[in-house]
Amino acid sequence: MTIQRLRGTQDILPSRVQYWQYIEGVIRAACRDFGYQEIRTPIFEFTELFVRGVGETTDIVNKEMYTFMDQGNNSLTLRPECTAAVCRAYVENKLYGQVEQPVKLYYIGPMFRHEKPQAGRFRQFHQLGVEVLGADQPVVDAETIRLAWEIYRRLGLTGLQVHLNSIGCPQCRALYKEQLQAFLQPRLGELCADCQSRFARNPLRILDCKQATCQSVAQGVPLMVDFLCADCQSHLDQLRILLDAGNIPYHMNPRLVRGLDYYRKTAFEIIAQDIGAQSAICGGGRYDGLVEEIGGPATPAIGWAMGLERVLSALEMQNKLPVLPDTQFAMIIMLGEQAMAAGFRLTGQLREQGIPVGMDLLGKSLKAQLRAADRNHCRVAVIQGEDELERGMAVVRDLVNGEQREMPQTEVMQYILAIYRQYREEVK
Ligand code: ATP
Ligand code: MG
Repeated sequence: MTIQRLRGTQDILPSRVQYWQYIEGVIRAACRDFGYQEIRTPIFEFTELFVRGVGETTDIVNKEMYTFMDQGNNSLTLRPECTAAVCRAYVENKLYGQVEQPVKLYYIGPMFRHEKPQAGRFRQFHQLGVEVLGADQPVVDAETIRLAWEIYRRLGLTGLQVHLNSIGCPQCRALYKEQLQAFLQPRLGELCADCQSRFARNPLRILDCKQATCQSVAQGVPLMVDFLCADCQSHLDQLRILLDAGNIPYHMNPRLVRGLDYYRKTAFEIIAQDIGAQSAICGGGRYDGLVEEIGGPATPAIGWAMGLERVLSALEMQNKLPVLPDTQFAMIIMLGEQAMAAGFRLTGQLREQGIPVGMDLLGKSLKAQLRAADRNHCRVAVIQGEDELERGMAVVRDLVNGEQREMPQTEVMQYILAIYRQYREEVK
């Protein structure tokens, strides 16, 4: 019996890793340009962190966590998201006291959720996330949304939609919750089992339920945006002015609620319509209460997370993946044992000069080695058999036009270096 990978996980093979590296390169450059610094936190944490930080009433904590006991009898969980961990690191390393505020961080890495695997939904998936801690102004919300927007612009994605809402603060939301519950109460029996249990603890999430019956019951419900307190309302108004000024188009979506408990005020999602049912490629919002919840000082904060598998699908659907540069410039083809040593030396010398070169490792025939050179998109081949070796010569073949010339072995290195430099100039 062969052992297979777990459902909902993927092997990212070399032919696709290049696209991941490309996306990560664009992301890192944009984050750097916006003044965000990378943070790397552990893949696993005490379960308690996510229970408190993500919230007991969320789907993530209720059904989706990979939780296990370790030998020391600690309950640990593979991170389902990274915001709680970043906040823990902010508190634990006292970033609130020791560096200038706000602290602008980003992370890229795998997250784990026990969900039903389907297109765009995996059990191990990758997120880019950003978090800005220590600033409460609407301009911060606008700036983080602009970073996501800028990453998509640099990647060349089009037709994306920003959906925006405010889910208020604990004060105005408490008032709204009562209105919502009063509206839903008479039809409670029609809701799905999940929503019935959400009704008392987290009724806002009922608006987010994908079940058709729940959606129909939720038609005409009172909306949070109509119950915002003065502070939440002015925060939203100011954010909208800034998004307009920044030329970032958005739709108000008063039914948008985020799955996580700690969100306040701003909530948003970015949708890519062409990737199917799992169309949210980015989601985020303000979470002013979280740092305090996990034991730190009261700290306003905002962030978002982007699903990189979904970004990759969108790039594929829109045909926006780049043609990546040739992998190797030259193939050193040596025939026979003695030539092998000379070739090994030459390969090393060329690599020291920064030229990407390949060499046969299987003792293949000349023909097979030339085919390998072709597959690697090599521009030139250096060929040396016992006969050339004896005369101190080598053949250099231009693989693009097929021309070849013989030259003294001592000149090969300078010759390859010269044509490589010329090639680099041309592709620039
Ligand atoms: P969804 O409604 O799709 O379940 P979510 O609200 O659970 O999303 P968040 O926790 O906000 O998602 O995560 C942010 C982003 O991470 C999502 O917008 C999505 O792009 C991506 N994402 C979330 N869960 C998965 C998953 N299981 N597989 C792939 N990407 C995911
Ligand atoms: Mg989810």
